[in-house]
Amino acid sequence: MAGTEVANAEVVVVGGGLEGLSIAWALTRAGVTDVLVCERGGLAGGETGKSSGVVRCHYGVPSLAWMAWKGVQVFEGAADLLGGDVGFVPSGYVVGVGPVNADALAANVADHRALGIDVALVDPDTVAGLWPQLELADFAAFAYEPRGGYGDAYRTALAYGATARRGGAAIHPYTPVAALTAAGDRITGVELVGGQRISAPTVVVAAGWFSAGLVAPLGLELPVRAQREPILLVDPGTPVHGAPVLSDLVSLQYLRPEPSGQLLVGNSDHRRPDFVARPEGYLNRATESETERLGDKLAARLPGFPNLALATSYAGCYDVTPDYNPVIDRVGPTGLLLAAGFSGHGFKISAAVGELVADLVVAGDSRDPRVPAADFRLARFTEGRPLAGAHSYVGAGEMR
Ligand SMILES: Cc1cc2nc3c(=O)[nH]c(=O)nc-3n(C[C@H](O)[C@H](O)[C@H](O)COP(=O)(O)OP(=O)(O)OC[C@H]3O[C@@H](n4cnc5c(N)ncnc54)[C@H](O)[C@@H]3O)c2cc1C
Repeated sequence: MAGTEVANAEVVVVGGGLEGLSIAWALTRAGVTDVLVCERGGLAGGETGKSSGVVRCHYGVPSLAWMAWKGVQVFEGAADLLGGDVGFVPSGYVVGVGPVNADALAANVADHRALGIDVALVDPDTVAGLWPQLELADFAAFAYEPRGGYGDAYRTALAYGATARRGGAAIHPYTPVAALTAAGDRITGVELVGGQRISAPTVVVAAGWFSAGLVAPLGLELPVRAQREPILLVDPGTPVHGAPVLSDLVSLQYLRPEPSGQLLVGNSDHRRPDFVARPEGYLNRATESETERLGDKLAARLPGFPNLALATSYAGCYDVTPDYNPVIDRVGPTGLLLAAGFSGHGFKISAAVGELVADLVVAGDSRDPRVPAADFRLARFTEGRPLAGAHSYVGAGEMR
């Protein structure tokens, strides 16, 4: 029944990952209950399903630091806010830098403390107490966020969705959107792959990397690329429990324990990104050379674990923008919003993303002065005004 209107809604959200489902939840909280989410596959089956789930507020961009801090509070309050445990493990978060970045670390921590974030500079003895097996000699400075840690992005996304449903939202998996529809300078809804139309005066595109292709026919260019990243799951020999997440900005890696006691290890070296043409059909495991590179760095950082062994590996794709920061903006025809390009930050800030988008829909602007909507405008790229932190790290500037 091509072209037939099968439904209408006040807001259609395209994409049922962390961001789309958080947006649906936030809209229902803001009183917009006639929300319909269209997800082409299973819920949270995209980038969200690959997320390492690290929760830290350590960002040079104050709005991102604050959005992550709001996220911490939502994860901590999940039992009340989201109806149950979503897998957040408040293991703490440590970031360590070399001499060249020690001043920037101190400046970032001072900014975070001024925002009210629970973080402190700590000495090597404190870090050794938290992670006795770590080699610390090449670090010059550390910061510790006791309320950071890691979560389960899949469970969190499903909990956002379930809470949104309880608030009135309709969430439709296996409902692929073929195109956005517009009349003149107004968005009018979406057309599904089967040809059916869903009418809506407001459409939010939160489809990760695929957002670019959805908005392109409307003359909008979203500069986003798919950056493949391998992840290793490592058997440390002796299970690790209770250690904090470590951002190692000397070796450019991050590691955290899994609830099983294995270690999850990821890459933080973005100097030679592995951009793939499409985030589908890419190699879903670490290559031998990636395993060797990540494994060597891990072994050098963990001399206290002489029997590290690869358990398994997989790979995900970040949807990265040129400044490694998201676009959350009203764009193109009236009624169209974009929330994409989360570039590796999208789990920890997801609750705040939903709130910002709901504010843009309901009030036309952010209602949180610490989250200026202007930070996330699409036009910053064409204007040559990328979003960047005040104290960025030499060799590790991306994703901070
Ligand atoms: C390997 C990896 C590790 C990460 N680690 C962390 C971390 O430690 N901490 C952190 O904060 N963040 C992390 N992230 C980032 C975070 O996971 C993402 O930013 C977040 O999941 C993005 O959510 P999303 O909803 O924008 O995208 P997605 O989860 O990809 O959701 C978009 C959805 O849109 C759907 N879609 C696409 N096209 C259509 C269409 N035409 N019609 C309908 N639906 C459509 C897709 O099927 C998909 O489900 C990581 C990401 C990766 C890949």
